[in-house]
Amino acid sequence: MRQFGYERPEYAADAVALAERPEVRYLAGGTNLVDLMKLGVETPDLLVDVSALPYEFVQEDLDGLVRIGAGVRNSDLAAHALIRSRYPVLAQAVLAGASGQLRNMATVGGNLLQRTRCVYFQDVSKPCNKRMPGSGCPARKGDHHNLAILGASDQCIATNPSDMAVALTALDAVVHVQDHAGPHEVPLAELYRLPGSDPQRETTLAPGALITAVDLPTLPFARRSRYRKARERASYSFAIGSVAAALDVEGDVVRDVRLAFGAVAPVPWRARTAEAALVGGPVNEEAFRAAAEAELAAAEPLRDNAYKVPLITNLVVRTLAELAAGS
Ligand SMILES: Cc1cc2nc3c(=O)[nH]c(=O)nc-3n(C[C@H](O)[C@H](O)[C@H](O)COP(=O)(O)OP(=O)(O)OC[C@H]3O[C@@H](n4cnc5c(N)ncnc54)[C@H](O)[C@@H]3O)c2cc1C
Ligand code: SF4
Repeated sequence: MRQFGYERPEYAADAVALAERPEVRYLAGGTNLVDLMKLGVETPDLLVDVSALPYEFVQEDLDGLVRIGAGVRNSDLAAHALIRSRYPVLAQAVLAGASGQLRNMATVGGNLLQRTRCVYFQDVSKPCNKRMPGSGCPARKGDHHNLAILGASDQCIATNPSDMAVALTALDAVVHVQDHAGPHEVPLAELYRLPGSDPQRETTLAPGALITAVDLPTLPFARRSRYRKARERASYSFAIGSVAAALDVEGDVVRDVRLAFGAVAPVPWRARTAEAALVGGPVNEEAFRAAAEAELAAAEPLRDNAYKVPLITNLVVRTLAELAAGS
């Protein structure tokens, strides 16, 4: 067994100071990190447990902005009255992930930084550019049925596995971070990186950066929002495609819309082309389908994942049609 140290600081500054070295990892619920340690993918020499930090809150400020602490458990987030009433898409996305037991352990910070489920990444006997830069990407010719159709590169076609991050992307969430430069904010849309030529760098965070909270901007029409997830089993399974949507309709016209896709790209995919096509247009299935197709025109499917193009198109049409019917 590999030896490692364990610390449980009570202050963020102490946690960040302990995480200065690249061999250190933050431990939150441990539901992803500990699995990867058992597989030998992660080999930290020190775990900094963040569970004693004061980040288990969901609160609203005077302007209506909702702040979620990084230590909030997924179950508590999904059950919170503010989230269920104002941002149902987020509650639904969280509940669509993992299992009840896992959600009781998993945290907001850990969910955002969970690693890809690409089978080669998790198998240390195989090459993988993300795990071992320059070693190759066997997924391109091998098992890629659930890998990316958008935003991938020659070096890596892995997908981001988080359901929560898709909803947060649609909601324009902002992440609070503390690192050696001090506390600062990063829009979620700028947190994740496309793989390009260095897929081992998945985020724009500095080494040792600690996520402390996530802000949800005020978005009144998000009361009418929804997360729809397709998966190979009815529960306890990662997405093969998902859609987070919020829709604002006036008469027969789309006044505003938020749309993000999951399980199609190395990052939660904000569908800005589709959004632009929808705003000011009619509220009908033809328009929803055309908008999805416009977004997916950039897709570059491989041998076994072309099914994701019609899958996402149909998810968009169904989700927006349901939201429109409820408005
Ligand atoms: C069987 C199974 C099925 C699953 N199904 C789904 C699913 O369908 N959808 C889905 O979205 N997820 C799914 N998951 C993943 C699950 O949601 C994640 O494992 C969980 O959200 C990670 O949270 P955690 O708190 O346990 O993180 P940890 O495992 O503790 O940490 C994960 C990573 O985040 C880092 N980290 C943690 N907290 C912070 C912080 N505050 N600041 C900086 N870095 C931090 C850690 O260092 C580590 O690298 C599944 C997991 C399992 C095991
Ligand atoms: S897709 Fe990315 S994570 Fe998967 S084998 Fe290729 S480089 Fe590794």
